[in-house]
Amino acid sequence: MSPLILIVEDEEPLAEMLSYNLDRAGFRTVLAATGEEALARVDVELPDLAVVDWMLPERSGIEVCRALRSRDDTKKLPIIMLTARGEESDRVLGLEAGADDYVVKPYSPREMIARINALLRRSEVQSAVSRKEYAGVMIDLDAHKVTRDGKMIRLSPTCFKLLATLMERPGYVFSRDRLLGRVWGGDVFVEPRTVDVHIRRLRKSLNIPGAVDLIRTVRGAGYAIDEQQSI
Ligand code: CA
Repeated sequence: MSPLILIVEDEEPLAEMLSYNLDRAGFRTVLAATGEEALARVDVELPDLAVVDWMLPERSGIEVCRALRSRDDTKKLPIIMLTARGEESDRVLGLEAGADDYVVKPYSPREMIARINALLRRSEVQSAVSRKEYAGVMIDLDAHKVTRDGKMIRLSPTCFKLLATLMERPGYVFSRDRLLGRVWGGDVFVEPRTVDVHIRRLRKSLNIPGAVDLIRTVRGAGYAIDEQQSI
């Protein structure tokens, strides 16, 4: 589905114009004339990005920005601040309130679309880094959560780090030394055998009944997370 852009702008012709241009560029749009309306819209459907005008009746764009940043579900929503002001201090204030980017009116639709695309790409890269999925296993580095086939799996901090490392490159065999370095920070007092112990624990936690063992042991080489088990 194409990205949904929330436009928060009280001047109807400007909002309509932006919406028209974004629709033509392949985005879906939803309009809100006030901060209250914007927050109500967000409750209905979470947008992928918000363009927020600074000058709004009642709550200012800055306040809307802060309100969005204080909610769990919109904490990381990419926000472009839109304003007629171009002074450095305003720009700083906008960014401090949580905006990711800043576009000064009047702007060209092409510029706005380029900024939106750049910001969406950036947030995609970020979410891809914080969340990884492989063979039914999902690890969320931000939320510190692991699921397998949708079922929550509890892991110790060490096992979590171990899984996070293996999930970086599914199928790739990490040597014990490499895992020691990545998970234990190369602590010289930790024996390579410790890796084996934690792999055993991870395997036990991860392998829910009826599911295949995803940890592949390669004798003399190391460990990988791999659907393809060696026979
Ligand atoms: Ca306005």
